[in-house]
Amino acid sequence: MDKSKKIYVAGHRGMVGSAIVRNLEERGYSNIITRTRQALDLLDQKKVFAFLEQTRPDYLFIAAAKVGGIYANNIYRAQFIYENLVIQSNLIHGAYLAGVKRLCFLGSSCIYPKKCPQPIREDYLLTGSLESTNEPYAIAKIAGVKMCESYNRQYGTGYISVMPTNLYGPHDNYDLNNSHVLPALIRKAHEANLRGDKKWVVWGTGTPRREFLYVDDMANACVLLMEKDIPGGLFNVGTGVDVTIKALAEIIMEVVEFQGTIVFDSSKPDGTPRKLLDISRIQALGWHPQVDLREGINKAYQDFLNRVAA
Ligand code: GDP
Repeated sequence: MDKSKKIYVAGHRGMVGSAIVRNLEERGYSNIITRTRQALDLLDQKKVFAFLEQTRPDYLFIAAAKVGGIYANNIYRAQFIYENLVIQSNLIHGAYLAGVKRLCFLGSSCIYPKKCPQPIREDYLLTGSLESTNEPYAIAKIAGVKMCESYNRQYGTGYISVMPTNLYGPHDNYDLNNSHVLPALIRKAHEANLRGDKKWVVWGTGTPRREFLYVDDMANACVLLMEKDIPGGLFNVGTGVDVTIKALAEIIMEVVEFQGTIVFDSSKPDGTPRKLLDISRIQALGWHPQVDLREGINKAYQDFLNRVAA
């Protein structure tokens, strides 16, 4: 990619968007456009179309979305489906109208059926029912993938959809109810430690398996896909390795230096039993994750201490 190309990163204040901006800057891109939520409401179609028409970016990363963990997805079902459908439709169609050359649409591995063979290949999309706790979010993201695919087919665009596994890292959301499991456990272990608790309650049975990717690895994958001269399509991004929630909790306990014992609260939902992505498609393009889980959790905990707990 030409380093002077105009690149709009939608959602630059979020964990993924900010990692994409960091990655682009490190690679020497000098013309990165961002807009805060106050400056541009992505739910407002007219404003989004006008902004894209005026700025005419060459490339667009869609890292703006309404996201959350199992609790938020399950409770705010209407907001998750509505806001995601509208934000992504405004940006994808607006990009097409403004002649954006390349677009990277970000989603999540929850688009795949609940009872998928593992590891999950891109072509398992729409082969079965979804996990009910995050079905509204997943349906919106599937619509985004299909929108990109349809624009590629009808209009000859080269839009890319990237579906990451569970992400974590700097600028993560540590809100106790709305966050994903990894940041939630970092915060809960840290606070249990401060209180001197002997027991630490972790939701669910501890048996579900999840795959975790450090967000800078994800950003690297997105930028690489945008730079490559490849047709549009769907790409999984993950590490290819998963762990149980129990094993994750044990690593976090060590990093946070919590001395007590873990207690599982099986009245809370487990969600999908396993979600491991097949990453051979992106690996074939030369991308590999760099940050190991324990090292990543250490870095995430430092960010938590500096930014949230401070
Ligand atoms: P998911 O991967 O889409 O299901 O979403 P999450 O990142 O929220 O992970 C959910 C898994 O972690 C479920 O098996 C939960 O039971 C388990 N879990 C354990 N403790 C927590 C917690 O404090 N917060 C969240 N969000 N999940 C937890």
